[in-house]
Amino acid sequence: MWIYKMYFLEDGEFFEYDTFGGHGSASTQIALPYLESLLSFLEMDHAEWESLIQQACEGLEKFLTTKDAAYTDQMMQALGELGEKHVYFKLLYMQWFWHKARENIEPGMAEELRQLPEQLSLYQKQAQKFVENILDIDQVDRDVQKNVRANYVFDQPHDAELFCFKPIPVSFGPVGEDTCGSILYPNTIRDLIDFSLRDCVAKNIPVRRCRSCGRYFPIIGRITAEYCSRPQPSEKLCRNIAPVQKWAKNSKKDLVFSEYRREYKRHFAWIKAGKISEEQFAAWAKQAKAKKHECDAEKISLDEFKAWLKDF
Ligand SMILES: [Zn+2]
Repeated sequence: MWIYKMYFLEDGEFFEYDTFGGHGSASTQIALPYLESLLSFLEMDHAEWESLIQQACEGLEKFLTTKDAAYTDQMMQALGELGEKHVYFKLLYMQWFWHKARENIEPGMAEELRQLPEQLSLYQKQAQKFVENILDIDQVDRDVQKNVRANYVFDQPHDAELFCFKPIPVSFGPVGEDTCGSILYPNTIRDLIDFSLRDCVAKNIPVRRCRSCGRYFPIIGRITAEYCSRPQPSEKLCRNIAPVQKWAKNSKKDLVFSEYRREYKRHFAWIKAGKISEEQFAAWAKQAKAKKHECDAEKISLDEFKAWLKDF
């Protein structure tokens, strides 16, 4: 019986969880872009999980002392809310759903849950360091496997602050329509982090910070990619919008320059025509250059710049 599984397929990652314990009923499937779950977990503020796990813990402890099942509802509500924040926490929800359904809740479990926020913060820090020191193509070698070989003795890192690999429950079988691959049946959130990091290394996939949103993204195609395709609240992809913005900015800069150059030539011609002196021209050119900088820096608009050039 399984309740939660994860696997990679092409440039995506898939999660399935089954509220009814895999007895042939429909399970929920979540598809995300490759590495999205790990990267978004690493970006989470630990306060987000701390308070909800704390609430779940309080419910659990009250249940253990009073045996009043209403308190387990309080616990499940907090875990459900947590599961909405990140797909990793759906695992926790599913596990407790089953402990509750089977009336298999024991005193030792409260201690386990109480320690979880601190453990998660530690794994988050270790995995963040792994991303920076092993996967970040702009900081270290693009050969990810070489970076691991330099930093690890078997599964142990030289630096204790780096993520430590451990055996994880991985099976193998058909995934997708015509492929087979590794399937993780995680016991803990740590297993999910471990599975994602090792997959990146096995496939030699580095990451880079997106030039638009500043978040890390996996480099699956072109090694020179600068913009991510990660989900955004706006539902637009940096890869599609950022280069257009950059182009628009550059072409605007060109427009400012061509306005400036035209007026510069016109004013310069006035010297020959005896309309202005060289000193007057130099004074104008100095001011025009300053205005051009203001326009480039978007302190004044292109129209304001044009109006200024015309009036002067
Ligand atoms: Zn981006």
